[in-house]
Amino acid sequence: MVNMALFGKPKYTIVRVAKKKDMPADLWTRCPDCAQLIYNKALEENLRVCVKCNYHFTMSAWDRIKSLTDENTFTEMDADMHSVDVLKFKGVKSYLDKIREDSIATSLKEAIVTGKSKMDGKPLILGVTDSRFIMGSMGSVVGEKITRAIELATKEKLPVIIVSGSGGGARMYEGILSLMQMAKTSAAIARHNEAGLLFISVLTNPTMAGVMASFASLGDIIVAEPKALIGFTGPRVIEQTIHKKLPEGFQRSEFMMEHGMIDIVVHRKQLRETLNRLLGYLN
Ligand SMILES: [Zn+2]
Repeated sequence: MVNMALFGKPKYTIVRVAKKKDMPADLWTRCPDCAQLIYNKALEENLRVCVKCNYHFTMSAWDRIKSLTDENTFTEMDADMHSVDVLKFKGVKSYLDKIREDSIATSLKEAIVTGKSKMDGKPLILGVTDSRFIMGSMGSVVGEKITRAIELATKEKLPVIIVSGSGGGARMYEGILSLMQMAKTSAAIARHNEAGLLFISVLTNPTMAGVMASFASLGDIIVAEPKALIGFTGPRVIEQTIHKKLPEGFQRSEFMMEHGMIDIVVHRKQLRETLNRLLGYLN
């Protein structure tokens, strides 16, 4: 917010900051795309989509599950599985401190919730990552939970939907152990696919790196929310590496759809209906 204010006229900057200080932070949210102030209640009622410009804010895993499934049909799998610090990782924060911090902030044990549920009466296996938990990154537990969920779907001949939102990709705190989850989740999806079953991957802002390079890009159908950042390496790093300006909209859902990586871009309000229709046609 402060950085944005720097680009405005100094006079207005002072007024804006002063106003913001008087404003209870838990009542209003400023849209990062159009800078509109949105009353939090209105934002929640609008499925966390900006009322002015349709910017899609990140959504918690449980809110997403609630928005996609029939009431009281979600049975969570592996709810108590949690990460251990095998590598004794020490950075600015230790891995265990980071897990503890994000667990308290999100009331989650890990960056994904998986389970069996129903969507308009149709049974399915659903996994939803939560980008508030270590950027939705995939460590051993996220990889294992996804794999177990897909394996249950294969056994019970059910379709799988995974909603991804991970700016973190493979979790650096777990080094090569997190990279191995890419192969493991991909192998589970391959077996699900060999059994002739449907996997729909839903990409939300942002889905990057090791998550995009494994299960998230392996959907029979790949659906994305509007303007979501989707790719492997971020645009800034690519630009610095190739010393060229990237095209407008590079790595956004719409751009990725034009270039064949994504099948359909769907507004959050139409997501459930679209998924439901796809399950009905193809399952
Ligand atoms: Zn907006």
